[in-house]
Amino acid sequence: MLSFWEKKNFLKHDLIVIGGGIVGLSTAIQYKELFPDQSVLVLERGLFPSGASSKNAGFACFGSLTEILDDLEVLPKEEVVALVKRRYEGLLAIRKRFGDADLGFQAHGGFELITHQEAPALERLDEINHLLFPIFEQPVFSVLPEHKNFGFGPKVRSVVHNAFEGELDSGKFINILWQQSNQNGVKILTGAKATKIIPDERIVEVEDFNEKIHFKATKIAVCTNAFAPSLLPELDIRPGRGLVMVTAPLSHEIPWKGAFHYDKGYVYFRNIDNRLLLGGGRNKDFEGEETTDFGINPTIREYLLGIMNEVIFPKNAPKIEMEWSGIMAFGADKRPLVQKSHPNVAMAIRLGGMGVAIGWQTASELVNLLRET
Ligand SMILES: Cc1cc2nc3c(=O)[nH]c(=O)nc-3n(C[C@H](O)[C@H](O)[C@H](O)COP(=O)(O)OP(=O)(O)OC[C@H]3O[C@@H](n4cnc5c(N)ncnc54)[C@H](O)[C@@H]3O)c2cc1C
Repeated sequence: MLSFWEKKNFLKHDLIVIGGGIVGLSTAIQYKELFPDQSVLVLERGLFPSGASSKNAGFACFGSLTEILDDLEVLPKEEVVALVKRRYEGLLAIRKRFGDADLGFQAHGGFELITHQEAPALERLDEINHLLFPIFEQPVFSVLPEHKNFGFGPKVRSVVHNAFEGELDSGKFINILWQQSNQNGVKILTGAKATKIIPDERIVEVEDFNEKIHFKATKIAVCTNAFAPSLLPELDIRPGRGLVMVTAPLSHEIPWKGAFHYDKGYVYFRNIDNRLLLGGGRNKDFEGEETTDFGINPTIREYLLGIMNEVIFPKNAPKIEMEWSGIMAFGADKRPLVQKSHPNVAMAIRLGGMGVAIGWQTASELVNLLRET
């Protein structure tokens, strides 16, 4: 039972944001900066963000060569360029706003391992550089003249370098968002799962100790990404689970640093504190990974271990020390879904596999939509 004080002080807000991942926290911060006198509450179901935002790989990327070529198979050129631009500008925006130190940003560049089978992609490298020239004003991709000292297995024919990509620390990113939320006076409640939105009454229902608590807001922002259909059914959104593994520290120094891509960007790896972080492989079982349940898919795990043993460290693969999964959201369109579902309810969801890059900017779009309300 709620007390008089709780009812009086805790339940009414100007904006309620559901979901405390990158997008929810960024929305709360930006809204509060625009309207400092309004009260903003974030409801997060987990103790920590429990979707993708602190479970991801921390790649600050915008698309590898083969990923862009893959996109060009199904999307018009202008759309592919717009996607890359959005991601790159999103990365510049968070670096400018928070600073590289607070994000743990490292500019070691991006790399893609090209197998013998994928060699034809290299013939289109100049074409892609030309396509992206208006964004970067210099060539993005180049073939590394020498990659032998990286020690990759014989499957790797070439390594393509991308000077504009980097990596960050996903925990630091959330920490700085929490810190700025606190500084701005945003209230965050964790362990608060919204079970229902009653749009006409502007109510968000949360269950606590079997009691239904009704929070009231002037406006409601839904930032629950893959989990949005439980509150707003019939959206064009499909969950996509992703696996990440981290090895024990290696006994020798890893001879490379950077954000590495493999298999059209479906597999990614990086060097963290001389450990290997390796993840992805969803393309080996799209159907099995179309779930909002956390868990480890054994087929994908085997596939990734095979890459570690044959491609990345063919001589001396380390032991896996930890593994986890996170949930992404996809749809027919690669762009996020930022729209209203009701005059007072708006959403920013479906961030795909690039939410680190586009989360903050997507939240800006949501805030613009909310301010019109
Ligand atoms: C394994 C993995 C690796 C990735 N690697 C990268 C990468 O390297 N680079 C990159 O750019 N992107 C990467 N991504 C994608 C990126 O992490 C996401 O696009 C981004 O985190 C999405 O942020 P979000 O805030 O929209 O969603 P989320 O992080 O999923 O946040 C939604 C939040 O809503 C909460 N929630 C859900 N339902 C409710 C409810 N009913 N009530 C209250 N709270 C609720 C969830 O607990 C969650 O915290 C990766 C994703 C995964 C899973």
